[in-house]
Amino acid sequence: MSHLLEVQDLKVTFALRFGDLTAIDGISFFLDRKEKLGLVGESGAGKSVTGFSIINLISKPGFISGGKVIFEGRELQSLSHKEIRTIRGNRISMIFQDPMMTLNPVLTIGTQMVETVLAHRNVSHKEAQQIALEKLQKVYIPSPEKRLQQYPHECSGGMRQRIVIAIALLTDPSLIIADEPTTALDVTIQAGIMDLLRELCETENMGLILITHDLAVVSQVTEKIAVMYAGKIIESGPTDLIVKNPRHPYTKGLIHSLPGSHRPGESLKQIPGMMPTLTDIPEGCAFHPRCEISETVCTRVIPALQTAGQPDHLAACHLLHKTREN
Ligand code: SF4
Repeated sequence: MSHLLEVQDLKVTFALRFGDLTAIDGISFFLDRKEKLGLVGESGAGKSVTGFSIINLISKPGFISGGKVIFEGRELQSLSHKEIRTIRGNRISMIFQDPMMTLNPVLTIGTQMVETVLAHRNVSHKEAQQIALEKLQKVYIPSPEKRLQQYPHECSGGMRQRIVIAIALLTDPSLIIADEPTTALDVTIQAGIMDLLRELCETENMGLILITHDLAVVSQVTEKIAVMYAGKIIESGPTDLIVKNPRHPYTKGLIHSLPGSHRPGESLKQIPGMMPTLTDIPEGCAFHPRCEISETVCTRVIPALQTAGQPDHLAACHLLHKTREN
């Protein structure tokens, strides 16, 4: 049986005056309905570009320069702009960090929701209102009838993000791509939104791609993780396995820099240095200038993703034998 989404050897290039820059360099993964995948990494790793390329929303001078995105059995690159727009609006929904990127501040929530339903479905205005109300109930908005009359600024940040999720559900999508959906929210509100996304995947039979820099958030919600660095997936596998036994030094660094990962009295261990920019990706393993165990081979040869010991657990590191112990 085919997967809900298959990304095969995807490459995204930015054609600039001084030459081409590779933003995504041959990444592959798949997702099924009800499955939740975390795309993790620091800012600049290529996570959001991956999300946008799945829905063919890479703006020029960027373009998909290789590989395939197959969604519900259709190769998206082979479709017309109109067909892609239909899939983007109906079958795949995207949720952003800032709810105000989705919400129009000068229209009531009801107007925005009803207009969205009418743009995608052949229903009456009254039916559209009913659908909007049902979706607000699905995301546990209190007094949903009242919310429909309100403007976005009358709602709290957490409430606005729930409304955005309700809007994402209006077209009954089979895939939601959520790009840092809780980064701007308090921790307790974050947890509620994550619980909601997890529940909706089950009840609405959807897949979820959760794009975030926060491994702690991903470990609460997803069943599998792909860790990205400089446009590549450098470790992937079941969430439990990666959180308990990360094999790539970068993933280890991300986990060890999480609050709660250190012993009492120890300070948090940060990964030294910064993610390289696209114009400055080091030769060999792109992580080698920041890696505490790098050897000469790392500066010359790009490591391939290889099995890291357990089924489905892959890591791209020349020295996997050295990374067995935490
Ligand atoms: Fe570190 Fe070398 Fe592994 Fe890269 S390949 S993560 S530099 S040990």
